[in-house]
Amino acid sequence: MTFQEFKLTTPLLNALNDLGFKNPTSIQEKAYPVILSGRDAVGIAQTGTGKTFAYLLPILRQLKYADQKHPRILIVVPTRELVLQVVGEVEKLTKYMNLRVVGVYGGTNINTQRQVVFNGMDILVATPGRLVDLVMTGVLRMKSIQKLVIDEVDEMLNLGFRPQLMSFMESLPQKRQNLMFSATLTEEVAMLIESYFYEPITIEIENQRTPLEQIVQYYYAIPNFFTKINLLENLLANTSEFERVLIFVASKQLADRVFDLMDPKFPDQIGVLHSNKSQNLRINSLERFKNGISRILIATDVASRGLDIADISHVINFDVPDIPEDYIHRIGRTGRSEKAGIALTFVNEPEMKFLLGIGKFMNRNVIEKPLPDGLIISDTFTDEERPVLFDKDYLGKPSSIADSQGAYHEKKEKNKKVNLGGPGERKPRKDKPENRGVLRKRAAKKR
Ligand code: UDP
Ligand code: MG
Repeated sequence: MTFQEFKLTTPLLNALNDLGFKNPTSIQEKAYPVILSGRDAVGIAQTGTGKTFAYLLPILRQLKYADQKHPRILIVVPTRELVLQVVGEVEKLTKYMNLRVVGVYGGTNINTQRQVVFNGMDILVATPGRLVDLVMTGVLRMKSIQKLVIDEVDEMLNLGFRPQLMSFMESLPQKRQNLMFSATLTEEVAMLIESYFYEPITIEIENQRTPLEQIVQYYYAIPNFFTKINLLENLLANTSEFERVLIFVASKQLADRVFDLMDPKFPDQIGVLHSNKSQNLRINSLERFKNGISRILIATDVASRGLDIADISHVINFDVPDIPEDYIHRIGRTGRSEKAGIALTFVNEPEMKFLLGIGKFMNRNVIEKPLPDGLIISDTFTDEERPVLFDKDYLGKPSSIADSQGAYHEKKEKNKKVNLGGPGERKPRKDKPENRGVLRKRAAKKR
């Protein structure tokens, strides 16, 4: 199928042509008629399969020029970086159209944004917190919203935006089209859909727990933090293979710590991205990484959702996420637009249980990779790792007592025999919203 068959308007076809896109992806093909029909819809498709255009194309196809102030289309996304990305995508598609798009997000001067909002727009892209703040100031009116798109909603819940979500949903006109797009769908999200959507059509391309085939996944079993650092240095030194590397870490503190240790080894090649950095720094780190000025980006899960950066050769999980969805989203930053990608996960003994959980969730094994020859295995354990091994963030409370390497290796042998989720082993996962709520609150603080 080609975009020609979509009966798009000439300005849209020309914009797509400029971008070099001829054939819609599966989610774009399936979502298009449903969204045009006006029905509420939930689109579930794997990371990097073009969900943004899946909702933008039909919406822009139907949006007529109108000289009015208040937004008609509202797109809500979890992070500031995603606001900028989606605004950029709208701008690309509306290059030959007379439409105004505005992006608003927290961490910047609200008065400047009030002025921008006051000037009027057709499409508003926003993070939930700033959206609610702007509605409260009275400058932003929701009464003209015809279509609502919620992109990556589970991450908004992860970040604790549930009250804001409910608040702006209540302020929207009753008669509107609701659209939601994500790579994963949790039970919590399903409940939200139940409350706010009207008889939605679900468009699911592939089982949401299946990561893309083109992402090759390996793990390294590593005893401690300093050996992880050694391995990271060893891998990053291979500049010809590790061309563009996104490194995920469990917390903001850890991101800064890994940066401080790696930066002297690879000067001017590394950036950091987490929620404690100023907005300018966040944008700068991301831009430098996107443009290839820095080869390496160290980030918390704030960068795990939705970000579309071309040609990331490797995603490295410096630690193992305790929420399986986070793993799926993290590795989904590579292997985008049908390109190949490699995901490497560093696993210490206490984290092995999270990897097992992820294997079960995906119903697929992550293959162990032997440590490179000559890798220096550190026998130094960080303060947090000593005298007991610590939970995944190294900064939390001790979770298990083990006597350093001896116990680790024993366990490792045992783990080799553990099936990471073959068909015989598989049990349906119970998504208990209460339990997940606790995990989420902890997770949100670390981003
Ligand atoms: N893309 C594509 N064909 C299209 C539209 C987009 O190959 O018709 C590309 C797009 O440029 C981007 C990638 O697909 O690089 C992923 O898009 P998106 O971020 O929308 O993916 P998502 O993770 O939201 O599914
Ligand atoms: Mg997306």
